[in-house]
Amino acid sequence: SQLADPPYLKGLNPPQREAVLTTDGPVLMLAGAGTGKTAALTARLAHLLFTRKAWPSEILAVTFTNRAAREMRERVGRLVGEAVEGMPWLGTFHAIGAKMLRRHAELVGLQSNFTILDTDDQLRLLKQLILAADIDEKRFPARSLAGLIDEWKNKGLTPRDIDAGESERYANGRGGELYQQYQDRLKAVNACDFGDLLLHMLVILKTHRDVLEQYQQRFRYIMVDEYQDTNSVQYLWLRLLAQERRNIACVGDDDQSIYSWRGAQVENILRFEKDFPGAKVIRLEQNYRSTPHILGAAGGVIAHNSGRLGKTLWTELDVGDKVRVLGVWDGPEEARRVGEEIEAAQRSGTTLDHIAILVRAQHQTREFEDRFIAIGMPYRIVGGARFYERLEIRDAIAYLRVVNQPSDDLAFERIVNTPKRGLGDKALAKVHQLARAGAVPLTIAAARILDTDELTPQARRSLGRLVGDIARWRDMANTLPHAELARQILDESGYTAMWQAEKSAEAAGRLENLSELVRAMEEYDSLGAFLEHVSLVMERDGDARQAEVTIMTIHAAKGLEFDTVFLAGWEEGLFPSQRAIEEGGTKSLEEERRLAYVAITRARRRATIIHAANRRIYGQWTSSIPSRFVGELPPEHIESETTMSGGESLWRANWSERADPFADVARGTGRGPGWQRAAGQLGASSFTTQPKRIVEARSSAVSLGNKGRDDLSLGM
Ligand code: ATP
Ligand code: MG
Repeated sequence: SQLADPPYLKGLNPPQREAVLTTDGPVLMLAGAGTGKTAALTARLAHLLFTRKAWPSEILAVTFTNRAAREMRERVGRLVGEAVEGMPWLGTFHAIGAKMLRRHAELVGLQSNFTILDTDDQLRLLKQLILAADIDEKRFPARSLAGLIDEWKNKGLTPRDIDAGESERYANGRGGELYQQYQDRLKAVNACDFGDLLLHMLVILKTHRDVLEQYQQRFRYIMVDEYQDTNSVQYLWLRLLAQERRNIACVGDDDQSIYSWRGAQVENILRFEKDFPGAKVIRLEQNYRSTPHILGAAGGVIAHNSGRLGKTLWTELDVGDKVRVLGVWDGPEEARRVGEEIEAAQRSGTTLDHIAILVRAQHQTREFEDRFIAIGMPYRIVGGARFYERLEIRDAIAYLRVVNQPSDDLAFERIVNTPKRGLGDKALAKVHQLARAGAVPLTIAAARILDTDELTPQARRSLGRLVGDIARWRDMANTLPHAELARQILDESGYTAMWQAEKSAEAAGRLENLSELVRAMEEYDSLGAFLEHVSLVMERDGDARQAEVTIMTIHAAKGLEFDTVFLAGWEEGLFPSQRAIEEGGTKSLEEERRLAYVAITRARRRATIIHAANRRIYGQWTSSIPSRFVGELPPEHIESETTMSGGESLWRANWSERADPFADVARGTGRGPGWQRAAGQLGASSFTTQPKRIVEARSSAVSLGNKGRDDLSLGM
């Protein structure tokens, strides 16, 4: 009876209750965004503890991020009171894997105090091995090998499982051999990488019956959130652990599978019912998060994907605002508009913690960061470093600092051997010595040491080259525009080439960040002014208790919700990404579309989708076309607005030969059957079909005041 309900059941709808109360046997909760999957899983955990079906240490609960684990722990604590001791097995796959592996490390030749390597350590180790194996690292970069090994580990493949075909993927068939050497080397130094945390445990569970049985006994209940993004090794792991008791509950949404690039396999959802026959499949259809227009917009976009499992979503929430589609002139205006709107929202009482800006690519955060710093808007970057704190940006800025300020020793130290110039610690120690002795900056000491015979010929050659380069760059600084100077420094120093040589997705992101840096520089009058800005940005003190706007990638926003969400940069080539477009086929594009679905469904009350007509890429203004996803938004759920207003005709006249960036917005596209199903449900709320409106919201004077446009007009 309702009255006697324990607190964790209060307010749950019938299917949610079923998911909570069906504790025994396999359960698959398959439901769309915001339907309370995570909420139900949390209640289930509370229920198991409250009813004493299991001790905290007998439940394995997997979340996708550490943050989600923390939230679940806190919520369960609130639901069942202080009595609950810590949940040792609540965490991400990696956290849980690490904990288990420490207990059984000796079974794979490690000690329990093994080190977990970060990416940098991992690369250094791989480079040594590549060098020792006489492989040309320039042709076959360590990063490619690291990516490949990671992929194998995600698939649950040990070196023994690598056949000739797989091995062929690195250095003409030497991939398998290097993978083996890498594993041997890790063992020798008592270390493992992230992939090993799961792979080693999988091997142990497969080869040591006693260990497997011990865990099968221990884990009375297993639960997994964001199940659509598990990869093979995680899946195999779960299947082994759950096979005995079969009390496993997984929740997921095939439409939110966005990590296939990291080996995630949405097929795991389909495999579940095969591997756990008789699984109870529970569908949640009521969405508690978003208004009908937001759901309608998201549903309209995702309906363009094929091969979906298909779901129905409805909501009782008030109809609320339509999703706003905002066309702006360029990137700086995008950041300015968002800043203004957030300030307005703040004035009307919204706290900044409930506002998020979601971007497709990391480098997009830069424009917002710069703007927010300029207007003193507190913000935080989630799931990544602030733009100017990223490794490649710090490196690049160190080069600029050395050129701008000869006595900047810290900057010099940072770049002297980045990229690798064969300058060892010994050579550098000598430069330091000379600098101290003569009380001169390192750059001067470096020049002086060339006149001595202190260095090996090789060290002398490369240091000589760097010293010469720096002198030349300083000369160039007098004549060359500073952004152009930066570009040349990055090229001539070999820094850009260093990342280009590494064909990983991560390196591609770093290269994008570097172009974004050069782009940012164009907004400042001089190199000095730009560096001044950067140092101010870096000094910004973070007060954690202060309310802040969140800026993050869509990937990092999975599972989260915010009252107000700004979705920036919905343009072809940015979102969907150029990579996805170039790859052709539907696979990558459908994953991008799922990202769009995840993005829109983060919003509770208000969503604004923004696209800019122009972006500056390497100093060149290029016109951009609104994302195809904008065209897929059902017209009845959106309201279009552009700041072009008066300026638009001028702009059209000037740029008539170029693609019309708004063509797609006006068009609108058809909707698939999946959508109509959902629309039938949504139809209960009052929806009016209304053609898109172009709201002349901004006077042309405001838009024309924008520096970007001035540049453009003059350029014509
Ligand atoms: P996602 O797919 O984005 O991870 P989800 O299905 O996990 O979403 P939750 O985050 O659990 O959804 O819930 C979305 C929102 O709905 C939360 O604010 C949650 O508190 C609320 N909610 C969940 N269930 C109910 C309910 N039965 N009654 C009222 N609100 C609910
Ligand atoms: Mg969730």
